[in-house]
Amino acid sequence: MLPHSAADPSADPSVESIAPGIRRVRVPMPPGTGLPFSNAYLIEDADGRVHVIDPGSPTPEAHETLRTALGGARVASIVLTHLHADHSGGAAALAAETGAPVLVHERERAALGLIAAGLPAPDLEAWGVPADRCPELLAAAAVPTSPAALLVDEVITGVLTDGDLLDLPGRRLRVVGTPGHTSGHLCLHDEEAGLLVTGDHVLPTVNSGLGLGGPTDTNPIADYLESLDRVAQLDSVPQPDRGGLRALPGHEDPFTGLRERCSALAAHHLRRADEVAAHPGGTVWETARTLTWTGGWDALAGFTLLSALRQTAQHRELVARRA
Ligand SMILES: [Zn+2]
Repeated sequence: MLPHSAADPSADPSVESIAPGIRRVRVPMPPGTGLPFSNAYLIEDADGRVHVIDPGSPTPEAHETLRTALGGARVASIVLTHLHADHSGGAAALAAETGAPVLVHERERAALGLIAAGLPAPDLEAWGVPADRCPELLAAAAVPTSPAALLVDEVITGVLTDGDLLDLPGRRLRVVGTPGHTSGHLCLHDEEAGLLVTGDHVLPTVNSGLGLGGPTDTNPIADYLESLDRVAQLDSVPQPDRGGLRALPGHEDPFTGLRERCSALAAHHLRRADEVAAHPGGTVWETARTLTWTGGWDALAGFTLLSALRQTAQHRELVARRA
């Protein structure tokens, strides 16, 4: 049980009421991570217990923010949209305090196993990387995707799969598998309330990176385009009294216009694929040099260069498949 907090949750500036029984908590991110906060969603069930979606970063500040928002409520479950530490890192401490089960998509749990076994080094020779750029790329590739990911694996007590309903009395919250950002990313759909928890799958202005969940047999961009279609379709049911499905993202603010946002994100990736298709042949390195990069090609080094090359390799594979 959580100790009772004297704070009135309604007066807490980091807490916002989204709908009856659903609150959003802006959980601070560690400085230097690029985004100021991640969103945790607290969903109350018919028994007065609270289900926590994405408890946030593994820091004392994040934990304290969540504790204050919970105000001593009984926590019935902790559900993670994906394995990244800014969403899942707080699960271990919260589970230890409350005894609540921690749930992820079954594909995400499998990915954690692969990450724990060690990420394969990229084949820099096949990518055509000049010898003088190899050391920085090998150093970047040796850093694990997320140190907290390994920690999370130990606290996971159950898995979810596409179409599952959460065990949440009084509310129907359905699991929508949305691979792309990570291979086991999930969204949660409350059809009755017209809400979709989107995690990092769809954010209102930020373009989430893709293929950031360890090794996969599939193409993360192709997976992502399919996942965008999947959630866009959920927003195609007319809801005149509500103005469409309301998206509850993992960062930034809740928004409507999910279908339009999905189209814009798909167009962004298809433009990049067209750019790659315009330069057939050559190596991954040669293709990557011809593409437009935020900040310019020359500014890429170490990890940013590695992820640029990975993205280019994924786009080349996607283009080859579509040909
Ligand atoms: Zn993420």
